[in-house]
Amino acid sequence: MAERADRPELPVDVRSGGSAGSHAVLVEAVLDALPLPTVLLDADGRILLANTAWTVATEFLEDPRLQVGVGDDYHEMALSLRDDLRTRILIQQLQELGRGERETVTFDYALPHRNDARWYHLQASRVDQAGQVVVTHTDITSRVQAEQTSAWQARHDHLTDLPNRAHLHELISAELLRPDRGPVSVLFMDVDGFKDVNDTLGHEVGDQLLRELARRLSKRTRSEDTVGRLGGDEFVVLCRDCDVDGALRLAERFQSTFEDPFDLAGEVVTGLSVSIGVATADAGQVRSTDLVRDADLAMYAAKAAGRNRVRVFSPELRDAVEQKVLVGAELREAIADGQLVLHYQPVMSLPSGAISGVEALVRWRHPTRGLLQPGEFLPLAEHNGLIVPLTRWVLGEATRQAAAWEQAGLPLVAGVNISAAHFGTGTLVADVHDALTAAGLAPERLVLELTETSVAEDPLRAAAQFAQLRVAGVEVSIDDFGSGFSSLSQLVSIPAGVLKLDRSLIAYTAARRSEAAAAIAAVVGLAGACGMRSLAEGVETAEQLQLVTELGCTYAQGFHIGRPMPVDELDAWLEEQRLAGTQPGAASADDLQRA
Ligand code: C2E
Ligand code: MG
Ligand code: MG
Repeated sequence: MAERADRPELPVDVRSGGSAGSHAVLVEAVLDALPLPTVLLDADGRILLANTAWTVATEFLEDPRLQVGVGDDYHEMALSLRDDLRTRILIQQLQELGRGERETVTFDYALPHRNDARWYHLQASRVDQAGQVVVTHTDITSRVQAEQTSAWQARHDHLTDLPNRAHLHELISAELLRPDRGPVSVLFMDVDGFKDVNDTLGHEVGDQLLRELARRLSKRTRSEDTVGRLGGDEFVVLCRDCDVDGALRLAERFQSTFEDPFDLAGEVVTGLSVSIGVATADAGQVRSTDLVRDADLAMYAAKAAGRNRVRVFSPELRDAVEQKVLVGAELREAIADGQLVLHYQPVMSLPSGAISGVEALVRWRHPTRGLLQPGEFLPLAEHNGLIVPLTRWVLGEATRQAAAWEQAGLPLVAGVNISAAHFGTGTLVADVHDALTAAGLAPERLVLELTETSVAEDPLRAAAQFAQLRVAGVEVSIDDFGSGFSSLSQLVSIPAGVLKLDRSLIAYTAARRSEAAAAIAAVVGLAGACGMRSLAEGVETAEQLQLVTELGCTYAQGFHIGRPMPVDELDAWLEEQRLAGTQPGAASADDLQRA
């Protein structure tokens, strides 16, 4: 962009005094010293001066349209780069500036550069009364790129680069606003057992799994679909112009991507699956948040039905969930209002036959539905985060009752069932301590019953809390042993004093008596080897009682001995036993001794 021979008149009168020539030189020198690419224009947009920085910048951009210099028309150059409304407005504003009709002009624009673009900020000001205009051009590429990156980041998930929750909702909303298109389907996916991968293989492997999943899911979708990540192991796919059948076909494709093993930095992970919920709507019918929530509900139902399933949303599904929420709210009140009651089932010490303890079993005296069994409301309590307040109530009530029996000369040990969720809160030890203190009950009179699965969820954490409880003198028993996948190694590591044999081990048919006996004997032997006493649950017949006694069980519990009963009924029952010579409460010191 060398200076041209037909050099136009240089600006004059920039400052008062001095000759026109020396002013021109001065202005030229000042402009040249400016680090920003700068041009000086006359009122018609002709370039009067262009500084060195301008030359350097335009050469760098390698665009022949920019190779202009003194004498060339700046407006024309702008139009040659882009002949559109914005450019025409810019030119008009520069002219207005020249006429003194405005103070300044600013304009941001992009120029192509190699395979990319560079961004500039144009700033123009009037220099003098002759209508001359000085235009500076600042390279703002890095700022624009930073802004673009952060705008991108705000809308994408940092782990997988997929659209995040906010952006997905934008995209779904936009799609739902297009009446010209077919139905919109949303697939809500949640990996089954993802937590196990994280817990056993570590978060880094978990992260790798999510990235690999993002890749596989994106590969299986049509180009017009969008895969996004809501967070955790939850992925959502927006399927444009896609009905339920199409969405189900896609869901099947996603399920099959889980059949191939995942190779995650040397760890080959197999057997993973996904639960998928599908919701479909026509444009204009629902909001994006509703559609995603419906798909989420369907996913939730799919998961509840077992792993690796697909469910399509239906209004009944929503009603069922609303019903659950309603009952959840009712249960919250029930705990506070004293609608819960405890029934106590006697525990017999073998072989003496003395009643040495009871298990406290919760019931809900529902105002309209009658007496509800734990199976009817405990899952709701778990789901609504009410299990801890419920257990606190049970602990308070059972310890108070045990203290009352003790005062009445009946030294019974009370068993209280503890749910797995209680370990997670970390309040178990304090809750037990509070209940014992309030009731004035010796810790030896309380047994906490835990299922082995609840222990398995977080064995380290559970073991630490067990240890504290045992130090405090509270006994712990493992409930329902043999009902699930028993982990023998865990048994050894848990400092429990009693192993409760699940009733499935005790409920044998006559034809399988010897096999059952062998199984019971093995578990009793195992308990003994681990320093634990054993309790046979679900003893329903005299013969079963005889067998478990012969096989060396320490305790027995079951309908044959006594059903769970309200306190007054149990009191009467104990009195009956005493009269019949079973000596309730006369448990030997041995029976109550801790292992
Ligand atoms: P679990 O702790 O194994 O309690 C024993 C269950 O077996 C009780 O059922 C009892 O009624 C039943 N049962 C006792 N003897 C026999 C028998 O001879 N034959 C048969 N078929 N069943 C027998 P229930 O009261 O319905 O309780 C069920 C489960 O609910 C309990 O199983 C326990 O896991 C849970 N549960 C009960 N109360 C509470 C509580 O206060 N808190 C917590 N977290 N869970 C509780
Ligand atoms: Mg129990
Ligand atoms: Mg049990």
